[in-house]
Amino acid sequence: MADTGPDAAVWPNDGWLAHLALAPTATGSNGWSEAQTFTVPPGTTALQVQLTAPAGHVLQLAELTGADTPVVPGDWLQLADQPWLYLDGQERVRASAWQAAFLVPNAPQVPVPPGVWRLRAFTFDYDPLSQARTPTATTLEVAVDLLRKPAVTAGTIDLNLCLTGARGITAATAPDHPRVQAALHTVAQAWGAAGVSVGQVRYFDVPVTALDVTHDDGPDLELAALLRLAAGQPPGIPIFLLESVNLQTGGGLVPAAGFTAGLPGPLDVGGPRTGIALALQYDEPDLLGVVMAHEIGHFLGLFHVVEAHAQGETAVEDRLPDTAPTPQNLMYYAPDPAYLTLTPQQGAVALGGPWVAP
Ligand SMILES: [Zn+2]
Repeated sequence: MADTGPDAAVWPNDGWLAHLALAPTATGSNGWSEAQTFTVPPGTTALQVQLTAPAGHVLQLAELTGADTPVVPGDWLQLADQPWLYLDGQERVRASAWQAAFLVPNAPQVPVPPGVWRLRAFTFDYDPLSQARTPTATTLEVAVDLLRKPAVTAGTIDLNLCLTGARGITAATAPDHPRVQAALHTVAQAWGAAGVSVGQVRYFDVPVTALDVTHDDGPDLELAALLRLAAGQPPGIPIFLLESVNLQTGGGLVPAAGFTAGLPGPLDVGGPRTGIALALQYDEPDLLGVVMAHEIGHFLGLFHVVEAHAQGETAVEDRLPDTAPTPQNLMYYAPDPAYLTLTPQQGAVALGGPWVAP
């Protein structure tokens, strides 16, 4: 157990966020890394683990143990039929390529005990066409952001709108553009009710207009190249407004209203998985505001209240005790502009994470 309390050296940045860069680690040919340990000081309320690979490897959290308490149990990968998502634990984890982040807790029942924590990573390659997954050996950067936000009930997020010129929306026109401002109003309404206010909104021009994503879970050069256009921006959630966003599925390119590259978003503006891509082509009805608010929810660590499922299939619900698997919530898998509701526990997950300044 750690016996030293938080101090100025451990908790810079007004005392609520401390960055730990762990030593790089390697994964073997079975995809597993050696265990790494780090110390979580008393008073820590949440933490975000960030894994970064040098190339397009997919990164997953294979195990996370806090002071001998399993947070992500080390046997889940052996039991899972696929390594992308672990939805059955109290703490959910979702892999992504190049860089992946994991916010702990993402449900109120997940403990964050002080003491020595241990983590292991798993890396694999993914072919979106064959859906083949192959363990890979590589070297990873591992970082942990520790958060100290006791009983926080309010905070702010800054937004970096990255504008492509699609629909005539540029950094010059966006501050007075009715559609953009209506969308920001919807975001402020939805998140404000959960205690998360929109702080600064910044506007940037970026030189792209459309995006085809090979797979929104998979290695994708085009997506990473897009998100890297935010490099050098001040801390804020990068939100790209594109004419169209297309996801590659087994059946070909499917147009989407938007998606977030990371759930949660890594704390790395300009990194390959930090950002949200939204399509402007859906304007009747105009879904820009509700989709922006919904994707910000994923970016801040929220899963759908219920995942899309066919009739007769088991519905996979989130792990929050105060949500219901119904369309009357912003984080329903198909968000409806009529329902911007977030529950107190959804608000608490977002407020506890690194993107919301207390
Ligand atoms: Zn969603």
